[in-house]
Amino acid sequence: MSEKMKEVPGIYLRDAELKAKDAITFKWRPNAKYVWAGGIAYSRYLEELKNGRIIGRHCSECERILVPPRMFCDKCFRATDEWVYVKDTGTINTYSVSYLDADANRIKEPILVAVIELDGASEGIGILHYVDPKVDPKDLHVGMRLKAVWKPEKERTGSVTDIAYFEPIKEG
Ligand SMILES: [Zn+2]
Repeated sequence: MSEKMKEVPGIYLRDAELKAKDAITFKWRPNAKYVWAGGIAYSRYLEELKNGRIIGRHCSECERILVPPRMFCDKCFRATDEWVYVKDTGTINTYSVSYLDADANRIKEPILVAVIELDGASEGIGILHYVDPKVDPKDLHVGMRLKAVWKPEKERTGSVTDIAYFEPIKEG
């Protein structure tokens, strides 16, 4: 223990003392800024979304098409080979009906999310996205066919939310 600490040893504060404002407290909002680099594959993916296209990467060893694209195949441990566009239609692989919002508040109208295997991407490879909130949760099912509903071009920012949500494809 330093000389200074012996002089002013201090005490542990309990929550009650903080709440009763028996201790000096202050609030401080740090001016923290973050930059995230998407990398070659994900940056191209986001750029293509801005233009209303979905792109993946093909691995010529396992013949899989990875969406979102990756420059490295996690199955073959080798670099992927080429860019491939996939369709903005697909099939539900799994889904969730959530009555909690992103901040864990209870909500009346559920948020519908699904893992969607896009047409052209390999089986078992899907993207997580919203399903049209107008869909009755009881109608959701694995194997349901969906199509992307894109935001208007001017509103797109190069984000996965450039697709507003996926809506069911009307059969027949
Ligand atoms: Zn591979």
